[in-house]
Amino acid sequence: MQVPTDSKSTIISTYRQKTPGSEQLSLDAKGLFPSGVTHDARHLDPYGIYVERARGSHKWDVDGNRYIDYFGGHGALLLGHNHPQVIKAVHEALERGTHFGANHALEVRWADSIRRLIPSAERVRFTSSGTEATLMAVRLARAFAGRNKIIRVKSHFHGWNDHMSSGYTSHFDGSPTAGVLSQVAENVVLLSPRRLEELEDVLSGDSDVAAVLLEPTGALFGRIPLLPESLMAIREITHRHGVLLILDEVVTGFRVSPGGAQALYGVSPDLTTLAKVLAGGLPGGAVVGRKEILDRLDFKAARLEGYEKIHHAGTFNANPVSAAAGVAALGLIATTDACERANAAGARLRERLSKVLEAEEVSWAVYGDFSAFHIFTDPGNRGVTLSEFDPCQMNFEELITNPPGVAAKLRLALLIHGVDIAGWPGGSCSAAHSEEDLEETARAFREAIRMMKVDGVL
Ligand code: PLP
Repeated sequence: MQVPTDSKSTIISTYRQKTPGSEQLSLDAKGLFPSGVTHDARHLDPYGIYVERARGSHKWDVDGNRYIDYFGGHGALLLGHNHPQVIKAVHEALERGTHFGANHALEVRWADSIRRLIPSAERVRFTSSGTEATLMAVRLARAFAGRNKIIRVKSHFHGWNDHMSSGYTSHFDGSPTAGVLSQVAENVVLLSPRRLEELEDVLSGDSDVAAVLLEPTGALFGRIPLLPESLMAIREITHRHGVLLILDEVVTGFRVSPGGAQALYGVSPDLTTLAKVLAGGLPGGAVVGRKEILDRLDFKAARLEGYEKIHHAGTFNANPVSAAAGVAALGLIATTDACERANAAGARLRERLSKVLEAEEVSWAVYGDFSAFHIFTDPGNRGVTLSEFDPCQMNFEELITNPPGVAAKLRLALLIHGVDIAGWPGGSCSAAHSEEDLEETARAFREAIRMMKVDGVL
């Protein structure tokens, strides 16, 4: 497919006309940050929007354009932007102080809220992010099991620490990514999401595996779906082999249900990593799980049992402002139908976007579960029909690939029509997305597709 150059693209010229303030800021940013961005997922050619404020399901850029937001704070905003009760709690916390360098009551309430929702959370250790949570989970698992290796599933995302880098979007052969030691990569075993039954053989042939780590609904919030029965089978196999199961519920926790995927499916992991919704839209993460494993962080248990305590610092662990937002958000999630509403919005949006594809005769597919939607852009040009499309039967590499230029052009065309999605392409709904938002999104999707046809990308 011949992708038009920037100068000939109506999408790019219209986008530039609509967002001059963002373009100006991006020029400054390119002199300051690599690629002008502070997170890889915010990278967009020629530049991304610069957002000034947000509320509910909407955000506004520096040029005054309004967007329906499906980026959702990288999945952190199940309740939408600036939920009044979360913001009130944050204001009150700010008045009291941003950092005490001491224990505080809200961290206790925050951990208690987690424990009420997530039954496997016998003990909690806060971190500042999901990446730190998976880093600590791996360390805890190794120290507890006295074994070295971690098994992960190709394309599952667990943040950017060294053990999580191979096999996410590249290095599916397990080789180290740039800057990572080969000794680290050698101790990470990668399974194909389409051949999870191999776990039994791997564990039978290797007694040095400490833990299996995965996203419980599949890579990238179900972009490569993992069926609940596979999750159950993995729990059973790990249990039988005495290997720990770490569920990465950084995305699914407090989102697919108040108790995450584990409560929904009745699966009990040994350790769970949490972040995003956990901290109500502020920075924060946690590793939670069995007491005897988290006791590796406990001064007294280490002394009594005679093992070396794992050292753990972190200036912003359980920061009081994040704790205030977290307590407010988890309280709302526990006592309202917020998860159900976000899930229902996801289902209605997938249905509406699918109808647009059908009407416009585009051989893509919109799919997903819970509050997620994923747009399959048919990189192999196989001409999928919606009724036949089954992501569970497809090669996982195909599901995470897009034809050159297509995902970026779709994002830009949607931005022109007032919708912000994530770049894979897809996004997640919040409890704040209204019926009007979904209708408007479907209209924007139709217009974006028409623009892509004019631009020659479709
Ligand atoms: N685990 C999963 C499943 C994630 O989706 C992410 C981030 O998107 C992380 C871990 C890393 O979390 P953080 O971005 O807070 O470091």
